[in-house]
Amino acid sequence: MSAYDPNNIFAKILRGEIPCEKVFEDENTVAFMDVMPRAAGHVLVLPKAGARNLLDIPQDTLATLIVSVQKIARAVKAGMEADGITVHQFNEPAGGQTVFHIHFHVIPRWEGASLGHHAARMGDMAEIRRHAEKIRAALAAQS
Ligand code: 5GP
Repeated sequence: MSAYDPNNIFAKILRGEIPCEKVFEDENTVAFMDVMPRAAGHVLVLPKAGARNLLDIPQDTLATLIVSVQKIARAVKAGMEADGITVHQFNEPAGGQTVFHIHFHVIPRWEGASLGHHAARMGDMAEIRRHAEKIRAALAAQS
């Protein structure tokens, strides 16, 4: 497995070098909208600390990350009025990973609606921003 590369796109987003539609941030974690959503309201949750994927992330970083994943999953379900949530996490190219800073995909699901393809096409940014607003509102209502 390769070492963590601090020039990956999510590291650049975390450093503020590339914009993102952020919905949540705490001491350890950031969550922002996926620009190529597999469903409306698709959010990515990642640690601020650099780790390539599940295979190298330190346990304490993983522990705080998964708690944030749960928090975001609840907010996405409520904010998007979804019937369910799918969580994906890919490791290494053979495992489907395309960005090498660990992240969890939190994807709202509705009965009867199939999942779109992975990283297939850019979403509409105005629509993504509207979904982000709903998720931020649900997060605000949580606390
Ligand atoms: P992976 O295959 O690594 O699990 O997923 C990477 C995800 O990052 C994909 O769902 C893709 O749509 C998303 N993505 C790729 N580049 C960017 C970007 O610049 N900004 C955001 N917000 N998402 C991105």
